[in-house]
Amino acid sequence: MYTLIDGKKTSAEIREEIRGEVEALKKSGHRAPHLAAILVGHDGASETYVAAKERACREVGFDSTVIRLEEDVREEDLLDQVRRINGDPAIDGLIVQLPLPEHLDEQKVIETILPEKDVDGFHPVNVGRMVIGLPAFISATPAGILELIKRYGIPTEGRHCVVIGRSNIVGKPMSILLARKADPGNCTVTVCHSRTRDLAAITRQADIVIAALGKAGFLKGDMVKEGVAVIDVGITRLPSDKTKSGWKLYGDVDFETVAPKSSYITPVPGGVGPMTIVSLLKNTLLAARKEIYR
Ligand code: NAD
Repeated sequence: MYTLIDGKKTSAEIREEIRGEVEALKKSGHRAPHLAAILVGHDGASETYVAAKERACREVGFDSTVIRLEEDVREEDLLDQVRRINGDPAIDGLIVQLPLPEHLDEQKVIETILPEKDVDGFHPVNVGRMVIGLPAFISATPAGILELIKRYGIPTEGRHCVVIGRSNIVGKPMSILLARKADPGNCTVTVCHSRTRDLAAITRQADIVIAALGKAGFLKGDMVKEGVAVIDVGITRLPSDKTKSGWKLYGDVDFETVAPKSSYITPVPGGVGPMTIVSLLKNTLLAARKEIYR
């Protein structure tokens, strides 16, 4: 029988912990942590994500500011906003909601954010520091996954972890974090991607599979061994006539066939997803306390 990893419950617990820490911070005379978000244009998904982040900030007692810029904003004007926030001592963390419209250079925008305020952990300085094991802001999804592994006590030391996907925001950082000399960590890591040959032969050797490729139901029961721990990062929204909303979310794992062989497994929704925002809050708290960059 497998343990279902409840990201919703764990994230609610962490939110409570953060709320307590904010109260303690305020009692000791500090202001509340403050997260700023820049939202360019009116993309529906981006609006939803930013609204959820604002709500999460309110719930834990953070201040939050959203700067809305028009779809056709000039790159220089966006960069000016970033620089203004960099220089504002009343703001601890800044995120720029991605993706940006095509005429804007995402990488340039990310690199303009001060690493000390880059609570998304996308700045090359934070990525580099993470790689060599220095204190760094770790991007929210990998940080959330590490926290689930830790809180559920999934053994990692000496285990073979197969990460499917090598994106900068999930697969790549995940593979580096789990290979680090740390707890959780000390895994032997294999990274699989779209050019991997005979992927199933590799996933069958895994003690831990992290599926982050964005293909609904990709990992099937015959691709894993008995006792595997499975973290499903994928979120694919497909039309459905069985739900009121008219669509349904699918993970990268075929839960029906994989769960019976697993020791631990995350559901979609309610697994990794809820951990992401909470990790962003945690990074903002670390930024406010100047715990990463002293
Ligand atoms: P991405 O598209 O940037 O990267 C996908 C990766 O999967 C690539 O490295 C590619 O090489 C690999 N891949 C594609 N097809 C493959 C195949 N057939 N076999 C092996 N590898 C293959 O995606 P991403 O941004 O890393 O996101 C991955 C998934 O995770 C998406 O469904 C996304 O929506 C989801 N996601 C969820 C959260 C969350 O909070 N739960 C956060 C970020 C991303």
